[in-house]
Amino acid sequence: MPNRASKAGHIPIRSCVICKTKDEQENLIRFAFIKNEIVFDMKRRIAARGYYVCDKNECLQKLDKWLNKRKKKSRK
Ligand SMILES: [Zn+2]
Repeated sequence: MPNRASKAGHIPIRSCVICKTKDEQENLIRFAFIKNEIVFDMKRRIAARGYYVCDKNECLQKLDKWLNKRKKKSRK
């Protein structure tokens, strides 16, 4: 039978690419890569593959390093 608990199951859960913390999609910041640059997708309209990061300063600061690693990989 439908109840409040079953509704909670429909909230999409995503994890931060840096700290791997899982959270509700809407609590994380979505971003995508456009021409190897990070584009924050606040309106969630970018069709490119999206990634999520939480809004902790720590994670946002590490995002640069993470991006550099990714760039190196894709150049191979
Ligand atoms: Zn994080």
